[in-house]
Amino acid sequence: MKDIFALGDALGPAKVIFVQQPALGLQGVLVVDNVATGPAIGGLRMAADVSAEECARLARAMTLKNAAAGLPHGGGKSVLVGDPKMTRAKKERLIRGFAYALRNEQDYIFGPDMGTDEDCMAWVKDEIGRSVGLPCEIGGIPLDRIGATGWGLSHAVDIAIRHCDFDLQGARVVVQGFGAVGRHAARFLAAQGAVLVGAADSQGTVYDPDGLSVESLTALKQESRSVIDYPGGAKLDREAVIDLECEIWVPAARPDVLHADNVKRLKARLVVQGANIPCTYGAEKYLHEQGVLCIPDFIANAGGVICAAMEYHGSSQTHSFETIEEKVRENTRLVLDEAVQEGIMPRDAAIRLAERRVLKAMDCKRWSIY
Ligand code: NAD
Repeated sequence: MKDIFALGDALGPAKVIFVQQPALGLQGVLVVDNVATGPAIGGLRMAADVSAEECARLARAMTLKNAAAGLPHGGGKSVLVGDPKMTRAKKERLIRGFAYALRNEQDYIFGPDMGTDEDCMAWVKDEIGRSVGLPCEIGGIPLDRIGATGWGLSHAVDIAIRHCDFDLQGARVVVQGFGAVGRHAARFLAAQGAVLVGAADSQGTVYDPDGLSVESLTALKQESRSVIDYPGGAKLDREAVIDLECEIWVPAARPDVLHADNVKRLKARLVVQGANIPCTYGAEKYLHEQGVLCIPDFIANAGGVICAAMEYHGSSQTHSFETIEEKVRENTRLVLDEAVQEGIMPRDAAIRLAERRVLKAMDCKRWSIY
């Protein structure tokens, strides 16, 4: 128990629930971090190597992200141990079993994350009536298909570029993780004149300094193939994505991909964090000291959860995109202005901004007066 309590601070977590059903092969964790602003929204992640600690860190990132975005929702996250490429029938059994075990946790609304998709959310909705990121056939806004998070990232870049010494037109972009976040970020940035020169997925990296076709790479991924099947460019191992010359580097895969042992290899000028917690704090501090601008995850990648929350409250796709644009641009501007004025890292400015909002919400709670 000591380890779990060591995860706690003034904001949370409010609850940590382990779910285990050996007969089903089900092992999962739910962390509800903070619900002062409303019931928590956060993704369900399925991966072979997830842990309770990763879940708690991701839940905190959701508290900060939802508060920064001014959503009436707190932060939470859930993880299920398993290979997300297991058979559909097995995956459905596990996800339904996990959702059913958490049916009374009204403080948590399931959303999609790595290893889960809108069909998984449909199973959860069917099981317990509480999920977002649903298929459009049952009232959802298909946020991964339309690229809600990539849309927000492109707006974060558009604001951040004002603090950089290069233009977006012709800027070289490298994307680590060519999934729902990475490929749409590449698409929206390319539409504004940036050039995708490198892309990685779990199989490897493809690099072409003259530019890669976002459409061809997207088509490959839609056929469940890899970026290394791209016809052309140099094929490298997946870690090589860190070494590629570029102006903008977009991590959109796993946590902690930049850390003390590899951060010095990065050659970018701007890191826009599509993935959640893609940098260790130390690595981000190092980049800041080197003059590399890092836009923190929970500011840059809020598009998905803004869209999910708007779906939950019955809004439309068009209105969601307008809201993502407005909120991500405004928050990126606020964070970078405060960072410059105070001489601090953008992440520290972003945490201050979000914590101010969470603490204000906590202060408005009935239980705050006891
Ligand atoms: P996804 O499953 O659609 O795509 C993940 C991609 O990363 C895949 O192409 C996979 O092959 C690749 N990948 C996995 N391990 C890798 C590695 N070691 N090196 C290089 N590539 C690797 O997932 P997604 O929805 O795009 O999410 C990616 C990240 O963004 C996650 O951290 C997620 O939490 C975060 N995020 C997602 C959303 C969203 O709207 N989907 C919103 C906010 C944050």
